[in-house]
Amino acid sequence: TWSAVPAGPPDPILGITEAFKADTDSRKINLGVGAYRDENGKPYVLNAVKKAEEIITAAKLDKEYLPITGLAGFTKNAAKLAYGADSPPLNQNAIAVTQSISGTGALRIGGAFLARHYPNPKIIYLPTPTWGNHIPLFKDSGLEVRNYRYFDRKTVGLDFDGLKEDLKNAPEGAIVLLHACAHNPTGVDPTQAQWAEISDLVAEKRLFPFFDMAYQGFASGDTARDAYAVRHFVSQGHQVALCQSFAKNMGLYGERVGAFSLTTKDEEERKRVDSQLKIIVRPMYSNPPLHGAHIANTILSNTELYQEWEGEVKGMANRIISMRERLYELLTNGYQTPGEWGHIKSQIGMFSFTGLKTEQCKALAEKAHIYMTMDGRISMAGLNGSNVEYFAQGVDAAVRG
Ligand code: PMP
Repeated sequence: TWSAVPAGPPDPILGITEAFKADTDSRKINLGVGAYRDENGKPYVLNAVKKAEEIITAAKLDKEYLPITGLAGFTKNAAKLAYGADSPPLNQNAIAVTQSISGTGALRIGGAFLARHYPNPKIIYLPTPTWGNHIPLFKDSGLEVRNYRYFDRKTVGLDFDGLKEDLKNAPEGAIVLLHACAHNPTGVDPTQAQWAEISDLVAEKRLFPFFDMAYQGFASGDTARDAYAVRHFVSQGHQVALCQSFAKNMGLYGERVGAFSLTTKDEEERKRVDSQLKIIVRPMYSNPPLHGAHIANTILSNTELYQEWEGEVKGMANRIISMRERLYELLTNGYQTPGEWGHIKSQIGMFSFTGLKTEQCKALAEKAHIYMTMDGRISMAGLNGSNVEYFAQGVDAAVRG
């Protein structure tokens, strides 16, 4: 039956983990996967999460199904975290929100909703480059995928003119995907002034802003500050779509906790949209998992745990920032590696686009047991006090050829 099924290529990111696991050298470093590691290079379960789990266990909750759109307390608190407690659509009961299988599931529900109900051209513009999974995800959702310029390899920064020109040339009413903060893979975000310009342009062209916020808190260490773009767009009267993930900021990767929301005109419209979200979710997976949503909701609804969590998010963001500074120092003043390395410090969030070329990335894997994606992206969270020097030395050798 399956004789005509061709073998597909391995996933470019998960393939790196395989190569890393197979490497027996003790100095090996995995900078491929976007998961936080502590100062000892180990996965990190947040204290706020451990405490929330204790509370949940003590409460002896049952294991009944959740409603189709998930745990109501969780979705309410997730929306509050993103839009802000004083958000007008939130307080007017005009945000339709459903729990999702983490950020990926949120994107997929959003893609399906737009493919079915969006009244304008079902074309979505993605930044170049973007998170690799965005492209097949929106294609599989039935949207036409196009690109807008985002990253300038020459300046290793934002190609703001290219971005504006491409959005200006997009058909009226097209959908535009925006990384709310900590753009993956580049680590380059628009400034607040640039976000304001993008918002005006989106209004002018009547584009539909679709935010992917997988790293709230990870960019600046401050969840409100990282929500600036979303809140600014809403304050300017845009209706937005928003995908949230609690994988990174709560370290709940494998628990798959996320939310998808749409701001609507009023409560009556919100109810209609809600009903259609249910119709999309029900035949996909019926209803979402319970445990992770309870953890996130316990943290978001308990003042003490919330404060502890915010401190831990800051701690993770700050450790990454300190690694950026250390790596920059080592490359510029330490090894005096040829090239300009200021972007290592100025980039934001979990990733850095180093500017290393494919051959240099290959050489790092083969000669130094250092693994990263072939586009030169590194997960800063994989660096720590014990390996950053070895990494800098490897980069220096690769750059000098
Ligand atoms: N969007 C972006 C930009 C991401 O980087 C990621 C995670 N790598 C996701 C969405 C989704 O992640 P998850 O499904 O684990 O929440």
